[in-house]
Amino acid sequence: MEIKTKHLEYTYQKNSPFEKRALIDINITIPHHSYTAVIGHTGSGKSTLLQHLNGLLQPTGGEIQIGDFVIRSDKKKKGLKALRKKVGIVFQFPEHQLFEETVEKDICFGPMNFGVPEQEAKLRAKEALKLVGLSEEYLERSPFDLSGGQMRRIAIAGVLAMQPEVLVLDEPTAGLDPRGRTEIMEMFYSLYKNYGLSIVLVTHSMEDASKYADYIIVMHKGSVYKHGTPREIFDKPEELIKLGLDVPESIRFQLKLEKRLGIQISDQPNLSIEELTESILSY
Ligand code: ADP
Repeated sequence: MEIKTKHLEYTYQKNSPFEKRALIDINITIPHHSYTAVIGHTGSGKSTLLQHLNGLLQPTGGEIQIGDFVIRSDKKKKGLKALRKKVGIVFQFPEHQLFEETVEKDICFGPMNFGVPEQEAKLRAKEALKLVGLSEEYLERSPFDLSGGQMRRIAIAGVLAMQPEVLVLDEPTAGLDPRGRTEIMEMFYSLYKNYGLSIVLVTHSMEDASKYADYIIVMHKGSVYKHGTPREIFDKPEELIKLGLDVPESIRFQLKLEKRLGIQISDQPNLSIEELTESILSY
């Protein structure tokens, strides 16, 4: 499912003294089955953009097309419920939204709310648990007896049980330890590579953006500053630093090395030292 915006604008509290233009003339295309990272300083408009992807916010100007759905500021909104099934959003700290007494009930809540029969919802719950790397034994447990990392996986399973085509993730690793972060990021990558989901990831981590995404959108003061492959985005680190973003040492090192050697070692600008050494030795 392709997502495309044309002159998309969003203003909070329009026509009031607190009016705030949060999105300004956004023109982007997120291709079918792709992994896009959205980066940018706090307040640059990332969350506002993300909430347009499943109709939670509707443009105050321009339009957004998500598959067959077109949402315009001047049109009556129809079919938003169907859209929300196709585009699942995992908000920050999604485990805060768990509330049922068992994991199974929690995962089934979304699908049943959308009219999926109980038996089918239970099958989906089992499947979704597997996708997030937990066994069926968890189904009967209380979500509140689990560790923070496990609770987060349960909450993500609840979104996956809706069987979305696009998964939108707002800082999904916030608050996790380094190992938990890597596990969750690898899990999302597998959902992208092996299960055909598109991913749109809002992140502060330049490492994650450069490692997993096919495309990166850099937001700045409500506008798209740059949109391209990780290689294109990180090619001029000084531009990102000027925007207040931090460019990891590993990326700067690779770029410096490439300049010195006069070659491009890889499409990916963020190889590990081992990968860099191997690539150079086999060049
Ligand atoms: P980011 O996700 O990049 O931190 P946001 O999309 O949350 O940025 O915010 C973009 C701008 O819109 C910021 O200036 C922010 O203060 C403002 N904003 C966000 N939410 C609201 C709101 N509910 N009411 C008014 N202004 C808001």
